[in-house]
Amino acid sequence: MSKLFKRPCIKCGKVFQPTGKFSKQCDKCRYKHNHNKDQLKKFYFKNKEDLDKLRDDITLKKWRILSKAYKQGKKIWKTKFTREKLSKYMDIPYTTTLRCLSLNRANKNSWELVKQGKLSVFKLAMICQSKSRTYQDEIVNLVIEDNLSTYQIKTLKVNNLKDINLERHRLAVENGYSRKNSAYFHFRRWAERGKIFLLMDKSYLPESKMDDIEERLKKLKEDIGKYLE
Ligand SMILES: [Zn+2]
Repeated sequence: MSKLFKRPCIKCGKVFQPTGKFSKQCDKCRYKHNHNKDQLKKFYFKNKEDLDKLRDDITLKKWRILSKAYKQGKKIWKTKFTREKLSKYMDIPYTTTLRCLSLNRANKNSWELVKQGKLSVFKLAMICQSKSRTYQDEIVNLVIEDNLSTYQIKTLKVNNLKDINLERHRLAVENGYSRKNSAYFHFRRWAERGKIFLLMDKSYLPESKMDDIEERLKKLKEDIGKYLE
């Protein structure tokens, strides 16, 4: 490109020397444009935050009203009263009704995490909607640590603890970014399980195998020491 090649900026009209053949704006205008774009992006992403917050507020408010109404309906019509009837009468979609009512199953730990802002009410409702009540803490941790989207929560299939690890593995494979989290989770799970065994009374183990266990623990202690170095 010739050193003499110059053109007027399409934004401000100032004649400038383009750095690339196709740049039509002077550096000053281009900088301003990018700057504005960054600003605009911030506003754009803020919309999502605002909507999430609104959705949480609505979910909470609907839950309070619907669960109150559901209890009242049960008192009046006993077993004839169903969630479906509630949804029809209250004119709230059935899926929304189920999701809101599922918050009745949320445990203390989960609400605490909501209070700390680590988990949205909407996601908690989706988690509670899954059939497994027993593993709520594990599923909640999975959702927070791997930052699962509401869509991914919907695809979770968890009926036992093994499923959680399998699901975590499946998601880790799906999203490369969470592989490290997955490795950490399995490592931690292993350590937790080990701790439980160490709490076990020795009398529960066959006497003849105690030497073997002691030998293995000594070796493990050695290996852990090396790992921590
Ligand atoms: Zn310009």
